[in-house]
Amino acid sequence: MNEKASSGTEPQPGAPVKKVERSPAEWKERLTPEQYRIARKGGTERAFTGKYWDTKTPGIYRCICCDAPLFSSETKFESGTGWPSFSDVLDPELVTEREDRSLFMRRTEALCGVCDAHLGHVFPDGPLPTGLRYCLNSASLRLEPAPQGSGASSADEKMEGMGSSE
Ligand SMILES: [Zn+2]
Repeated sequence: MNEKASSGTEPQPGAPVKKVERSPAEWKERLTPEQYRIARKGGTERAFTGKYWDTKTPGIYRCICCDAPLFSSETKFESGTGWPSFSDVLDPELVTEREDRSLFMRRTEALCGVCDAHLGHVFPDGPLPTGLRYCLNSASLRLEPAPQGSGASSADEKMEGMGSSE
């Protein structure tokens, strides 16, 4: 079906990734202590406490640190884990993975390919077709809600779903 939904605002596929690097002090200035602990220090938020674990709002999840578009609500699914979970990345160039052997487990860590922010981990038990489950921290993400409707009319400002918990 539609594998890559392009909203027209994303960088061209294949364009070189421009790295973002900042000092710890600079990150601390830009992030909340919780965001810093998780995104810059590899922490994990407690299950069911994050901002986005149960969010169904359509949109793009961006890196909290550098704003890179990392995940789409289209691949978000209910994993029951208490963390926002995705079956695929938006752009493979913007999410990097590396082996994480902490806690005596062998896991695959998912990081922002632009600024190396810790996002969460990848597990091979997600839904098809990818079979992957990106188990992420809300604190590492910022949801940019998609424009309501099909984007044709900007005069019609409907803000459905904003902040509603249904
Ligand atoms: Zn980033």
